[in-house]
Amino acid sequence: MRLDLAEIVRCLGCARDVKVADGSVTVTSVVTDSREAAPGSLFVCIAGERVDGHDYAARAVEQGAVAVLAARPLEGLSVPVLTVQDTVRALGAVAALWRGKSSARVVGITGSAGKTTVKELLAHVLSRRGKTACNALNLNNQVGMPLCMLKTDGDEDFWVFEAGISHEGDMDELGAILKPDLALILNVGAAHTEGLGERGVAWHKSRLLAHLAPEGQALVSADYDDLVREARAVFGDVIFFTASGRPLSYRAAYAGCSDGVHGQYRLWLDGRPCDVTAPFRGDYGTENCIAVAAAAHMLGLSAEEIAAGFADAQLPPQRFARSRRGSWDIVDDTYNANPLSMARMLDAAAESAQKRPFVVVLGEMRELGSVADREHERLGRHLAQLRPVLVFWRGGHADAVRDGLEHGLYTGRFLPVESGEGFVQALREHLPADTGGQGGLMLFKGSRGNHLEELLEALERSD
Ligand code: ATP
Ligand code: MG
Repeated sequence: MRLDLAEIVRCLGCARDVKVADGSVTVTSVVTDSREAAPGSLFVCIAGERVDGHDYAARAVEQGAVAVLAARPLEGLSVPVLTVQDTVRALGAVAALWRGKSSARVVGITGSAGKTTVKELLAHVLSRRGKTACNALNLNNQVGMPLCMLKTDGDEDFWVFEAGISHEGDMDELGAILKPDLALILNVGAAHTEGLGERGVAWHKSRLLAHLAPEGQALVSADYDDLVREARAVFGDVIFFTASGRPLSYRAAYAGCSDGVHGQYRLWLDGRPCDVTAPFRGDYGTENCIAVAAAAHMLGLSAEEIAAGFADAQLPPQRFARSRRGSWDIVDDTYNANPLSMARMLDAAAESAQKRPFVVVLGEMRELGSVADREHERLGRHLAQLRPVLVFWRGGHADAVRDGLEHGLYTGRFLPVESGEGFVQALREHLPADTGGQGGLMLFKGSRGNHLEELLEALERSD
């Protein structure tokens, strides 16, 4: 990035206190971590729970920062200090300023599950056509997303950014920074319901459409009734896609999986069929494939380019990553979990297990607030239908899951575990000894805070 400091000063309303002549100082990076500060940096002080960035401003200046953005006056610094009320909002305003100068077509992605997956895949597909930038990893909030936008060169053809929300008002803030040319809402389900207040998830997600750039387009799943209603209420001309068989111009169907890893999907892009092989299996993949393909198609890519992009695409780490352990297939989906992703990953894993024993190692779904018990009970009932031989559980709401399992007349074992060692021991005790040499499939999945990867690592360490 490259912005004139005088322009940033004006944009943040600091021109009365900070005098910088036009063109005299150029900002070439924006950082919040003083260790990343370098000549040309604007250092943004953010007061976190444990660390206060204001304490590191002097260090950032020593490393070459040319200006500091702070929420209180800072004495003794040799560079301009732009004092604002809220440095996170100001960071967003700087990112919005930079976005306004970019000629890239900007895609904003939201949804309750699969944003990072779809963001990575769409960026991969679009990069066949032109230079593409996207958020690093999962940096999708009011700090991470603007920082990632400010890491772009500005000459990209496409920007693909996911926006993640957990509180009232978050989407309006993120939308105003991003001003997408194409807003994609992938799905809605109970996620972060604790912090989102009275209004439903669909209402919050649909706010993205209120911030479309002039001539911007909205691409929304038709498969969630409340989302269809809320999206239409915000924007009159929504283009819908569906993972059901309904005859919309963007639709898809799952055609099965031949190598155990990649799924075959038939897509219809503006009515024309297009067959793709993608690193998904099952129905959740149908949703992701058609969302990515429809977005790419709306941005001008051909069906051939889209199919070629899918063919060598890879999923981000900890999302349905398969490996082998002896005769067992291990599926590492430990990145995160909410009711929507939990249900869909269980279905996909159960399909992968086929008739072999199916074992699940699951963790609590967090941040659900008042609906937590209900959602965990529902998970138990869903699990009972899939008939895993063992259900390991880490974290809270174990009783609700057990109730759901009992309600569904589950006959396998429900085994709460805490430590990795405890898990490995319980597995040794209860794993079916003879699976006819065919092994089985073991899925690991839970909310980030449960660190299900620790259980997977304990298994890997054991002999
Ligand atoms: P976060 O809110 O943490 O940013 P996200 O929306 O970016 O999550 P991913 O990180 O892509 O989502 O995936 C999270 C989980 O959702 C993983 O288990 C992933 O396999 C699963 N997932 C991916 N796509 C879908 C989908 N379309 N529907 C449901 N679950 C999905
Ligand atoms: Mg994400």
